[in-house]
Amino acid sequence: MNYKRSSSLFIDAKKNIPGGVNSPVRSFKAVGGDPIFIKKAKGTYLYDVDGNKYIDFISSWGPMILGHANNKVIKAIKARIEKGISFGAPTELETKIAMLALKMVPNIDKIRFVNSGTEACMSAIRLARGYTKRDKIIKFVGCYHGHADAFLIQAGSGAICNGTPNSPGVTKGNAKDTILAKYNDISSVLKIFKKNINKIAAIIIEPVAGNMGCVIPKPGFLEDLRSLCDKYKSLLIFDEVMTGFRLSAGGAQESLSIKADIITFGKIIGGGLPVGAFASSNEIMNELSPIGKIYQAGTLSGNPVAMEAGFNTLKILNNHPEIYKNIDLKTKKIHDRINSILERNNVPYHINRFGSMFSLHFTEDPVINFETALKGNNNYFKKYFHGMLNEGVYLPPSPFESCFINNEMNDSDIDYTINAFERVIKKL
Ligand SMILES: *Cc1c(COP(=O)(O)O)cnc(C)c1O
Repeated sequence: MNYKRSSSLFIDAKKNIPGGVNSPVRSFKAVGGDPIFIKKAKGTYLYDVDGNKYIDFISSWGPMILGHANNKVIKAIKARIEKGISFGAPTELETKIAMLALKMVPNIDKIRFVNSGTEACMSAIRLARGYTKRDKIIKFVGCYHGHADAFLIQAGSGAICNGTPNSPGVTKGNAKDTILAKYNDISSVLKIFKKNINKIAAIIIEPVAGNMGCVIPKPGFLEDLRSLCDKYKSLLIFDEVMTGFRLSAGGAQESLSIKADIITFGKIIGGGLPVGAFASSNEIMNELSPIGKIYQAGTLSGNPVAMEAGFNTLKILNNHPEIYKNIDLKTKKIHDRINSILERNNVPYHINRFGSMFSLHFTEDPVINFETALKGNNNYFKKYFHGMLNEGVYLPPSPFESCFINNEMNDSDIDYTINAFERVIKKL
């Protein structure tokens, strides 16, 4: 494949935008080489500026569950744009999407819309802190909740629970209120609770993690978190920015039959436009301004064009619950077939899959948290990534990201992908 025009656009981009991208993972830093510049997308295909076509396994990192440029969603956005694109005053559409989201997702009474998953998570912890009148939060190493200061915390040297800033610009003051625990390790959480009696406002977690590859909670792990939160009167926040409206209409709460206190959304809820949201019970949500004292706002929050994209995406998912069965089956088919190819070729590997999220790690050990995700062979992954790209299969450009299947992927796309996979693996 020829990537000439992409490479030349990247040179210009780098002169004008830090690293040439507006979000780091797009830069291909983890896999080497220049990123591909996309011209358009339709269904399950991406088309780049050099005229190459790709089967897309990213789906814009999740939002495009219906495939790209879904006819109904695009039609609704077009009609909406004609009527004006932002008012700074309420619209009926905001209530319509709120009602639909509240109907689809169990265990929530009210929802507020913001502009990104980052904002949703940032607001959720402010709400939890304001509601519980406590300062500290627990997060898990390897979980991503956006780029707000409170989440850019890494494990300090020695004990895993001493948070230190993970980025220059995050203060030590911020870091001290975020305590790190180990995913799938309840004893690491219990220790923190015991050391911080009456101080923990909330635990925030990706109920199925998608930002260290796909990592699945062990049976009982989330249930144990639920009981610890109940025991110590802390709130359990499910960050469902990725899993919401993807694992099922009701997200991880429905798929795993477990209740969280606050849920955050992003990605699919915006149907490809910049939207996030957070939701909880009446009691907790009524603490937000303008009713309560906890402040949270946004000039473009609930933007009519974004709401139209989200509303129509959710409406299709709500009216066609079979979509979830279908994408799960498609993903299972891919999973089973790459499994047998890897077995036949004696490649050390581990695959994690939940519904339509999956990741392939080039390590034999089970990947159950960030530490074990780090064991993957990155050099091997780089070659695998570029091999697949060259075959016209666009995978996440990092071993620490999950693949997302969209509903437009058909059997011949899957056959093509599997054949390409076999060719690439044999050459590695
Ligand atoms: C993508 C993501 C976020 C951040 O959302 P943005 O819209 O990128 O700010 C937060 N949490 C999880 C689990 C995510 O996958």
